[in-house]
Amino acid sequence: MQTEKKDIRALTKEQLRDFFVAQGDKAFRGNQVYEWLWNKGAHSFEDMTNIAKVTRNLLEEHFVINHIKVDQMQRSADGTVKNAVRLHDDLVVESVLIPTETRTTACVSSQVGCSLDCNFCATARLKRMRNLNPDEIYDQVVAIDNESRLYYDRPLSNIVFMGMGEPLMNYNNVLKAIDKITSPEGLGMSPKRITVSTSGVPKMIKKLADDEVKFKLAVSLHSAIDEVRSGIMPFSAKFPLKDLRESLEYWYSKTKSRITYEYVVWKGINDRKEDIDALVKFCKYVPSKVNLIEYNPIDDGEFQQANPEAIDNYIKALEQNGIVVVVRRSRGKDIDAACGQLANKNEAV
Ligand code: SF4
Repeated sequence: MQTEKKDIRALTKEQLRDFFVAQGDKAFRGNQVYEWLWNKGAHSFEDMTNIAKVTRNLLEEHFVINHIKVDQMQRSADGTVKNAVRLHDDLVVESVLIPTETRTTACVSSQVGCSLDCNFCATARLKRMRNLNPDEIYDQVVAIDNESRLYYDRPLSNIVFMGMGEPLMNYNNVLKAIDKITSPEGLGMSPKRITVSTSGVPKMIKKLADDEVKFKLAVSLHSAIDEVRSGIMPFSAKFPLKDLRESLEYWYSKTKSRITYEYVVWKGINDRKEDIDALVKFCKYVPSKVNLIEYNPIDDGEFQQANPEAIDNYIKALEQNGIVVVVRRSRGKDIDAACGQLANKNEAV
């Protein structure tokens, strides 16, 4: 019986060097192949032209090179680009390129579907099928970097982990992907240009702090009142705000990096004065800023964008208390690429 071949890109450079030594070849051969895989983006062993045919055959016997394939690319009227990305096992995730005057941001997925159950989110309706591998996350970024160069004549400037999935539920693979993205052998991007956005898993936020990561952290807060928050994000009943607060204080004490709170205001859900007061109070625990995000209804359900006055009340209260607040208009609505809308609508997943 033939054993299943391994994805060669799951190997570290050290492991590749060890493979060649075990085969009676030189460790250096591992460096050469690694360079083909990561710096030159080889899609097949045949592409590795400075590697002897016999060695390429050996690689072929043991490994496969799994690459993502951008199946369908849609461009929004506002310039946003959404990729439907097909994985080697035929599952599909989505990633988005968001251009502004000065920057190009990639919004990437970390899981197929999602482990969590936020009531306002289209991805939550797809059950979690699996975690993405580090190379599948990395490849989404490379695809968007290429599109950024093609359409906007500039490289990708920022990355947010805000696509499908909860990145901290795929902790190791997300961190490995970020290592590759920031390493000179990968894209050499600064970690300061990368934001991991979590729905707020306290234990994992503490782990990030202990691992001394250099990227930025954003938390989807949406309410600073436990009962309201667990009505929006049911899983958060298990992680009360006092635990979240404690983990964020720990994060800040270790990293000195300001937190961004992602916050959507919905009509009749979190648009009261007491919701605003609770957010202002929560923001004072740790240096932070607030992104107020425009909502894109995913159907005619209970989650509807709040009235402009409610948003204004939030802005006024935050500013009066010296808290930085940015209103984020949603992009790519016409192609379902906006926040909370990623749900593989065009694919049978
Ligand atoms: S908002 Fe994020 S964490 Fe919540 S269900 Fe959607 S993808 Fe998962």
